[in-house]
Amino acid sequence: MKAIKFIFLIVSLLILKSCTDKNHNKENIVVTIYPFKAIIQEIVGNEVVVDVLLPGNADPHTYEMSPSDFNKIQNAKVFFYGAETLDGWAAKLDVENKIELLKVLPQDFLIQIESDTDHSFHKEEDSHHHQGFDPHFWTDPITVNSMIDSLTKILSDYYPDKKDLFRKNSEKFSKELYELDKKIRETIEQIKHNKVFSAHPFYNYFFKRYELEILGSLEISPGQQITPKFLKTISEQIKQKNVKAIFINRQHISKPAKVLAESVGIKTIELDPIGGTTGNETYEQIISNNLKIIMNELK
Ligand SMILES: [Zn+2]
Repeated sequence: MKAIKFIFLIVSLLILKSCTDKNHNKENIVVTIYPFKAIIQEIVGNEVVVDVLLPGNADPHTYEMSPSDFNKIQNAKVFFYGAETLDGWAAKLDVENKIELLKVLPQDFLIQIESDTDHSFHKEEDSHHHQGFDPHFWTDPITVNSMIDSLTKILSDYYPDKKDLFRKNSEKFSKELYELDKKIRETIEQIKHNKVFSAHPFYNYFFKRYELEILGSLEISPGQQITPKFLKTISEQIKQKNVKAIFINRQHISKPAKVLAESVGIKTIELDPIGGTTGNETYEQIISNNLKIIMNELK
């Protein structure tokens, strides 16, 4: 009997220990894609670990979550994802600690999917579009700035003892975002070809902010069906409007975009809206590196 009691005690202690270990783990933040880490890390500084689920070359729209991803999410203090229309698999998860970043943004900063753009490319294909807001908000520093106060408040609720530090960091980040905006404006002024067309609308917040003319995109959701008729309409528009290149994102090398570009004799330009690679780690670096590529092609 004594032995049984002893084993029971040991088992209880082990369970207790694993519980405290688990609670101890619940100090970190988990995010789906790298730019969310880049933004949140500016606010929380080195005080909190921010883990990213997706590798830098993965497409958030089509990513398939692994069991270890789910474990990380469950063991996080708070889990941030983009939106139903970006990382919908995360939006569907039945976990209590998840926060949708698109909902943290003030509504008037959001772009309706394709509604602010020239519809001429899409008139006959409107049934293909999903409803709602464009989820690629992080490509514009001013849009990111619009969420900083609310985001800092949310983070402070999870880490009340770090409130003052978060406030200080967010004020500094906000200033840096305005400086970045100023730098982009001064650079973009030198652009000659201001008409842009993309394989997927992954950079429209940036294009819209800096007054590039968005002519549309090929695949609203990556991999969607494109009819020959639609391709023909686009080819004509590209020639007529003298579009210089089609923007594609590193996470979804669109085959239809390559075929289209080749058929009309223009190139595809690859941007990396996600980052996370060497030299592409901070928010400022991600945006500045893409700016360099854009300027190289459109100047
Ligand atoms: Zn996308």
